[in-house]
Amino acid sequence: MVETRGRATARTVLAPGATIGILGGGQLGRMLALAAAPLGLKCHIYCPDPDSPAFDVAAARTVAAYDDAAALERFAGSLDVVTYEFENVELAAVERLAQSVPVRPDARALAVAQDRLAEKTFLRDAGIAVAPFAAVDSIADLEKAIAEIGRPAVLKTRRLGYDGKGQAAIGEDTELPAALAGVGAASSIVETFVDFAREVSVIAVGAADGAMACYDVTENVHRRHILHTATVPAAIRQETAAEARRIAERIMARLGYVGVLGVEFFVVDKDGGETLLVNEIAPRVHNSGHWTQDACAVSQFENHVRAVAGWPLGPTERHVDAVMTNLIGSEADHWAGLVADPAARLHLYGKRETRPGRKMGHVNRLGKRR
Ligand code: AMP
Repeated sequence: MVETRGRATARTVLAPGATIGILGGGQLGRMLALAAAPLGLKCHIYCPDPDSPAFDVAAARTVAAYDDAAALERFAGSLDVVTYEFENVELAAVERLAQSVPVRPDARALAVAQDRLAEKTFLRDAGIAVAPFAAVDSIADLEKAIAEIGRPAVLKTRRLGYDGKGQAAIGEDTELPAALAGVGAASSIVETFVDFAREVSVIAVGAADGAMACYDVTENVHRRHILHTATVPAAIRQETAAEARRIAERIMARLGYVGVLGVEFFVVDKDGGETLLVNEIAPRVHNSGHWTQDACAVSQFENHVRAVAGWPLGPTERHVDAVMTNLIGSEADHWAGLVADPAARLHLYGKRETRPGRKMGHVNRLGKRR
């Protein structure tokens, strides 16, 4: 490492042999560690689950709770930089780590992304279009908000929601107390139901020196609230795609963001054109960017590693069309047919237990070369 630890974090540049700490031990941590290895960088994974898929491919592991102060301190002492692979890490844990080791993306990006109210407010204040929303802490708030934004609407918990969890649809006949109970009466936001034509995302990356790059816009299809396919190119107009990339870069610039950022959008067909609304941002590598592993010279995982290491970004150009399909639950049992298909690239996460709804792997099918 060129800079002294804990000082001048914006200028910290790792040398090969340095160690990146990763909070979270799921498939994203695993694929980050796999991408770090060819660059001569080591990963130390921190996760409470002793069966974490990332442990199989990492140089070091810590099995401890995210609020274990002593374990976090030992972890920080073994690292040159720390990053995270899921956004529900306790902010307090990340702030504690930041006292002794650079954290990339920093705690502010995490704070914005892990609270839907902070996220939507940040986006609106940045002049970025989002669905009309309001904060809900009581039934009175919800009644007032619905009177303003109307029905249909979607109620979402402010924290710990993912893959459609912590959400309740509010239709014409929905009783509002039941909807609030449906999200556990937690602190929430309610937003207009968006009648979108498609969902797309941008995987963007910011470097420590302020350089930014984006991968091609991806079109996403969900099944039972879980990403099913991610397809590039997305079937949207060129100017819409360019606008999506500009929005992602504007978000990164406002956050001084270092690392990979996933930005999810709704595309709405309106007045013969397409308009974009941001649904959410993810301060990490993103499931809709897994196609970059096989369709680009430098994947989202390598670019995240480069960014947090303070290295120059790699090219984000795509050299082939691609469709990524998630393998959920028992779908991964068909691995033998997939691995025999020359047009398919199989990625399995090494999870010991197959459970319905669990992401077990993905397959990238490559199409026309560009
Ligand atoms: P989220 O957890 O916010 O990413 O939402 C999960 C999925 O629910 C999204 O990918 C959409 O398909 C759907 N969804 C979320 N918010 C809305 C909305 N305001 N209007 C319509 N669909 C939504």
